[in-house]
Amino acid sequence: MATRSVVAEVREITLAIELIEMGARLQLLETETSLSRDRLVKLYKELKGASPPKGMLPFSTDWFMTWQPNIHSSLFHAIYRFVSTHDPAQPTIQAIVKSYRLYLEHLGLHGDEPVLTLTRAWTLVRYFDSKMLQTTVCTRCGGRFVAHAYDSRPGYICGLCQPPSRAGKTRRAQFPDIARHTTAA
Ligand SMILES: [Zn+2]
Repeated sequence: MATRSVVAEVREITLAIELIEMGARLQLLETETSLSRDRLVKLYKELKGASPPKGMLPFSTDWFMTWQPNIHSSLFHAIYRFVSTHDPAQPTIQAIVKSYRLYLEHLGLHGDEPVLTLTRAWTLVRYFDSKMLQTTVCTRCGGRFVAHAYDSRPGYICGLCQPPSRAGKTRRAQFPDIARHTTAA
């Protein structure tokens, strides 16, 4: 029994370290591990050399609807659907971590900066789980994009097919996976 709890604790600490190194906020760490707030703060300081930012996460579903965040969120969520379907038994947080690494890797290939932080990606998955968000299919490219739940948009065209004029050149070549990972639902 004692041995088992030590192993469980090591697992929790390993997970916390991985999450902190990927930029997780304290609120995420408190939700996803059973370590005390004090221990998490200590761990955070040790790894980052600074205290974790204070305060609640300011996120709302609206952030995910703005142009560039919507494209990045949709890319991340396409990867996440792929990862979680591939291994349905894995804990959600592991699927998020794996998907987030793939998201960063994908952007790295194109020399593009990530827009989504790990904490935002985690929040996105939680919004989907609580049915606040869903995906909607672009009628032009067939890709699935993050949208408000219960907001049916006939004739929807995504931000890649129809970028706002302020966005400059369309950079759709960087996001081919959105369409590719999403064979008709
Ligand atoms: Zn489209």
